[in-house]
Amino acid sequence: MSIGFRRPLEAVDLAGLVAAFPPPPEYFESAWLDTPETIERKQLSRLKDHLLAAERVPFFRRRWKEAGFDARALCSLEELRHVPAYTVDDIRRSIEASPPWGDYQGVVPEDARREPMRIYMSGGTTGTARPIFFTQWDREVGAILMARGLYMLGIRPGDVVINAWAYSTHNAAHMYDEALYRWLNCVVLTTSTGNVTSSERQLELAMQYGAKSILTTGDYIMHLADVARKLGHDPKKDFSFRALPSLFRSEEIESTFGAEALGFYGNHEVQKIAVECPARKGLHIFEDAFIVQIVDPETGAELPEGEFGAICVTELYKSGGPQIRYNVLDLSRLLPRERCACGSWLRRLEPFSGRGDNMVKLRGVNIWPEAVGEVALAVPGAGTDWFVKAVRENNRDELIVYVVSERDRSAFVAIAAAIEKALKEKFGVRIRAEVVAPGALDAWTGFNQAAKLRRFLDERN
Ligand SMILES: [Zn+2]
Repeated sequence: MSIGFRRPLEAVDLAGLVAAFPPPPEYFESAWLDTPETIERKQLSRLKDHLLAAERVPFFRRRWKEAGFDARALCSLEELRHVPAYTVDDIRRSIEASPPWGDYQGVVPEDARREPMRIYMSGGTTGTARPIFFTQWDREVGAILMARGLYMLGIRPGDVVINAWAYSTHNAAHMYDEALYRWLNCVVLTTSTGNVTSSERQLELAMQYGAKSILTTGDYIMHLADVARKLGHDPKKDFSFRALPSLFRSEEIESTFGAEALGFYGNHEVQKIAVECPARKGLHIFEDAFIVQIVDPETGAELPEGEFGAICVTELYKSGGPQIRYNVLDLSRLLPRERCACGSWLRRLEPFSGRGDNMVKLRGVNIWPEAVGEVALAVPGAGTDWFVKAVRENNRDELIVYVVSERDRSAFVAIAAAIEKALKEKFGVRIRAEVVAPGALDAWTGFNQAAKLRRFLDERN
């Protein structure tokens, strides 16, 4: 008897899945150690198939036709640069023109009879939410990618793990949950954020059940350390944490809790892209599932090897909502392909100097004050102290970087001009620079007062 639909457990060929995208621990004995030739051969063959599938999506068909790109003609990875890149603004326009899902989806809800699917949303705080469909296949591959990352970070089968990401319409908590449960055999405590389960209760559960990890932001982990001390606990001795993954504040987390804290990179639309290895020389990209390019933030054009720019992602596995040259507008640099101390040839993204809390969106480009500071200090004449302010002027967001110089005041204007030029070259947008005398920034940075210097102030509201 035909029931007329396909259940999730029947929708994925398990053997084919693990052969194409090995889960941990097998992954670290196989694809993690692929030679450059194998990595790129796999990428090219997957890319060709994926482009043909993505061409059936109206969003891509339309844009590729306009750009004169023929998916059937692609015969090298280099030619991927001819595919037009897009940003979140193009996605927003697609939703406005074809509500409610946009025309960038690979499936629609009626397809769930054949392709069981889930939907997650992002961007609800800054306008229309952006829905993304994930088929059962997409969920499984995404969970494997995440499981690889969590395994690299030290999480093991049988561990009790607290998932303190928000269980909401957003993908994050679910992505972690599925990886932990379906591919790592961890026992998940679904606490969600501090609003759902208080910080005191999260810590109590961590102690009672010997949790090996809490998955959340670096800032919340550090907040938990404060709460633990207030409750009379020693963060280092009274817990059983082994791994506390975090994009930021790794050193602080490690010294506070005595647990390893390696970095991760990914996003809502394509899920986990890269993970840091113990060599700590950048984040290895899961190249059997992704091709990452660094592009000009505004034009999407690929930048020369080693340059700093926006991360442009092409994933090679999704059927629910393909992402081909998605300019994420996160800034980083790709390191040259070479063998890492961990044995992997997988390309690495430079660790971020900043992201998240401090990120400022300047004319569509995501910019981190830390990255601005780094570029400014490399200019001759700049000292070692800096501070960034975001302000609202003439109905536009503006960034101003203040840089200290030891040189004579008569040189300040020229140094500021050189800094502005360097910033424009790096980020593609204008950022104002002002040069000041040593000591002038102390009140802002909290020099001699705060344990950690403040580098950024948002004065836009
Ligand atoms: Zn490595």
